[in-house]
Amino acid sequence: MEQFFDEIRQKTEGTLLVDAVSRTVYSVDASIYELEPLAVFLPSSLKDLKEALVIAKKWSIPITPRGAATGITGACLGKGLIIDCSKSLNKILEIDIAQKFAIVEPGVVQDDLNHALASHKFRLGPDTSTGNRATIGGMLANNAAGSRSLKYGRMVDHIVEAELLLASGQTLYLKAMTKKEALEKSKLSGEEGRIYKTVLSILDQKKEEILKRFPNIPRHVSGYGLDFLLEETDTFNLAKLIAGSEGTLGVVSKIKLNIVPDLLKTSLTVISFKNLEDLFIHIPSLLKFNPISLELIDDHILKAGIDTQEFSWYDPDQTKAILALELEAESYDELQVKEDELYHFLKKSGLNPSILKEAKIQKKLWEIRKAGLGLLLSKRDYSRSVAFLEDVSIDPNQLAGFMKEFLTLLKEHGKEAGVYGHAGSGCMHIRPYIDLRYEKERLLLKDLMEKTVPLLLKYNGTLSGEHGDGFIRSWLNPKIFGESLYEAFLEIKKAFDPDFLMNPGKIVDGPDPLENIRKSPEDGKMATFLDFKEEGGFELSVDLCNGNGLCRKKEGVMCPSFQATNDERDTTRARAVTLRRLLRGDLGREGLASDELMEVLDLCLECKGCKTECPSHVDMAKMKSEVLYQRNLKKGVSLRDNLFGKIGDLSKFASLFPKTSNKLKSKPFIKEFLNKIGLTPYRPLPDFAITRFSKLAKKRNTPSRDKTQIVLFNDTFNEFYCPEIGMSLLSLFDKMEVDVIIPSYSCCGRTLISKGLLEDALKKAKKLVETFYPYAEKGIPIVGIEPSCILTLKEDLVSLAGNKAPHLIEPLKQIASVSMTLSEFLVKHLKSEPHLLKPLSLSKLEVFIHGHCHEKALLGMHPELEVLSYFPFIHPKIIPSGCCGMAGSFGYEKEHFDLSLKIGNLVLLPYIEKLNDDAILLANGFSCRNQISFGTQKKALHLGEVLNILTS
Ligand SMILES: Cc1cc2nc3c(=O)[nH]c(=O)nc-3n(C[C@H](O)[C@H](O)[C@H](O)COP(=O)(O)OP(=O)(O)OC[C@H]3O[C@@H](n4cnc5c(N)ncnc54)[C@H](O)[C@@H]3O)c2cc1C
Ligand code: SF4
Ligand code: SF4
Repeated sequence: MEQFFDEIRQKTEGTLLVDAVSRTVYSVDASIYELEPLAVFLPSSLKDLKEALVIAKKWSIPITPRGAATGITGACLGKGLIIDCSKSLNKILEIDIAQKFAIVEPGVVQDDLNHALASHKFRLGPDTSTGNRATIGGMLANNAAGSRSLKYGRMVDHIVEAELLLASGQTLYLKAMTKKEALEKSKLSGEEGRIYKTVLSILDQKKEEILKRFPNIPRHVSGYGLDFLLEETDTFNLAKLIAGSEGTLGVVSKIKLNIVPDLLKTSLTVISFKNLEDLFIHIPSLLKFNPISLELIDDHILKAGIDTQEFSWYDPDQTKAILALELEAESYDELQVKEDELYHFLKKSGLNPSILKEAKIQKKLWEIRKAGLGLLLSKRDYSRSVAFLEDVSIDPNQLAGFMKEFLTLLKEHGKEAGVYGHAGSGCMHIRPYIDLRYEKERLLLKDLMEKTVPLLLKYNGTLSGEHGDGFIRSWLNPKIFGESLYEAFLEIKKAFDPDFLMNPGKIVDGPDPLENIRKSPEDGKMATFLDFKEEGGFELSVDLCNGNGLCRKKEGVMCPSFQATNDERDTTRARAVTLRRLLRGDLGREGLASDELMEVLDLCLECKGCKTECPSHVDMAKMKSEVLYQRNLKKGVSLRDNLFGKIGDLSKFASLFPKTSNKLKSKPFIKEFLNKIGLTPYRPLPDFAITRFSKLAKKRNTPSRDKTQIVLFNDTFNEFYCPEIGMSLLSLFDKMEVDVIIPSYSCCGRTLISKGLLEDALKKAKKLVETFYPYAEKGIPIVGIEPSCILTLKEDLVSLAGNKAPHLIEPLKQIASVSMTLSEFLVKHLKSEPHLLKPLSLSKLEVFIHGHCHEKALLGMHPELEVLSYFPFIHPKIIPSGCCGMAGSFGYEKEHFDLSLKIGNLVLLPYIEKLNDDAILLANGFSCRNQISFGTQKKALHLGEVLNILTS
């Protein structure tokens, strides 16, 4: 194998990954499978891609192309060489609005193409739920569709041309041609001629069988789409056969697609049903209203996703499922007419419709629909909503009969399932709950699949409407299509790929579906410092990752390093799969202390984005703390980690001589020392304040009132670095007649937790209990300045004490229950006493808010907006930034400095650069403010400072 690797390295400029961690990272997708590849190749250009195919063919290495790996069938997993097209083959090559097409490389993400088209008021037709990460190459290979497929169809309806690299490395240019031209092609010698000849002869000889065996339904993607080639009578376009071919015929290197105008005016009507069977009966009559989407969401998802206050029409006790029906029209008048007609029809039919007028609420419902699968998977259990019959597709007019029999089949086998999907197209996502750890359950999975086939055939359906065959369904293709068509599939495969090197085991020659099923780590084996009871144990909290790849999205907080590197290794998924293998004992010899694990955890910024944004709530920041603790036990703690972890104690000492400490920092020998222990020389350390906050605060002369009392959490940053913020807060609270109790300076332990110094952090927690419990017991709010510090009190300390100091649990829970950020406190307080905030009368002011990651992930920024809404002259705007890139010590660490700036430069820093000088910048995080001033030379203020300036 080494010779194969050497040849790839020598002849290409791409990256070849052969190490155990990379192979682990690329061993999963969103399916139930796990398969370790021989190696992974990241081509840097189309030339590299071609070269890699030629070399792989020479060494008989199977190839599996891969996009974002959001596929649910294991189709992008393979034993040979994985080619990751998402990393660098992601350029939009051409957009032609007049001729309505776009040409892209395969790794372009659906939403990125849509963003590029948005200003022209155009879009890609199919809109998969995974659009914020799925690649066009993966979408084409899966013949993806989306919730509006009633209007836009599937990828096969939009493909115009495809450049296909065969296993031999030869390029085929597939596009529409006349039948005569196709016949001419079939006479050519070589691979192209062979392919055209085989396909044309099959179409000719097996036309009847194709028409009989491929159901005439809105969506199907199982098998090779021979019927797509019969749809057009005058022309012939082999590119259509690539739709749904799952990388088994070649690697798509360029794609030309139709683009479509944006949606016109739309409206959304929701119809609630007390039982599922009734719902399906109504689908044919609803389709007569020509909806552009007709989607089903059941109560498993609704209950997990809906806020009943926002959705007043939703009655959880009376609703088993809803249909969401979207209408479209040229004008609002026309839309109103359509909407009224529908409404009256529904009422007359004895149904229960609600029209969602507000765009915000419509958007929310679509978000719930898109998050459907994630919501089903948010159950913390090993019995999960598993994908194997999750994509059945039936004639929508026959859905009622099929679903009745199908749900009975499940019931007979004692199974419940979450149900959602594209009811209008007949494509249903049904996921029975299965515990894959047990053989009996795995056999049941296979049994249910076999028993569903005759049902599908009876109701003119097929196994997959949009997700494809992959490892899970290919084995059933002979039964679904019959021997004759299956033979035809094999002939096609041989014509394109005679040595069966392209993505083996998919569509044809499918393995037993129970091979390569991902194994969960054994439960309860690991003794952890942190308490993982709430997550169901450490092993389950690792195993919760279902691989759906949402951590590859490029917006929000999760996962800042991936957002900057576009590298699968920097996703939460990569970290979770590596941890899972380590826990199973399949990787590394040192368990959690192993260097292999650190390779993927190193760039986790502990931003907590995954804790809320990942649909399974995989809390990698917490797991990383545990891993670092275990590693520290075995390998010791580096001086740098000790210094950063103990920054509170260090600052306390250095602040005894602040002027000297500040001067010392710039002395060459100190600089050299810092550089030696791993700090970047390019970013200055923050200055110590000349007078500590606690000293300054002592000087204040605040009369004690019998009014609202709060306890101020005076954190390390406020005490030693920026006491002016605490002073602004005191002034603000004074104006608001709030009594502030200031206990002695305390460290929350955040920096210690981040570095895995959990025993030291527990000591801090004990001290916090001594200091704050007396107040918490009385219910006095503890208000924080630094978001990550107060959120540590709120979120982290209970699990820190859970296993090691159970007597602290109750006091810490009490402390957590009264701990809040400044904005949270103000929102609550101003609700009862709004008059206490006295805004100055000023003319229009723009305030731009950057949220700290922990604030955004755990609370959201609504409290900030709500407080600022008391100022009529303020126009607050949330900067659409994720992480600032600092993440505590991360931005000071030599090896992380560049990435830290890269993350800052994704959105935050360029956004701020463009702002007018008179705009107010608001950032509550100490590190965020430092990154902003370092990256833009502009000063950001804390909310307390802003409010103090703007009030009398
Ligand atoms: C939560 C969730 C929701 C989903 N919702 C939808 C939905 O609404 N509609 C829908 O259609 N699908 C849906 N899917 C399935 C999946 O997201 C889509 O099919 C998506 O288009 C796959 O794109 P990808 O980049 O992740 O491809 P991958 O999963 O990486 O690969 C998919 C297939 O494409 C092949 N492939 C990738 N790149 C190439 C290439 N360059 N040349 C040849 N073959 C290639 C792979 O080998 C594999 O066979 C969903 C999945 C999840 C997890
Ligand atoms: S970590 Fe979460 S978002 Fe990422 S793949 Fe796993 S489950 Fe999905
Ligand atoms: S904590 Fe942040 S950086 Fe780490 S895995 Fe989660 S989202 Fe990614």
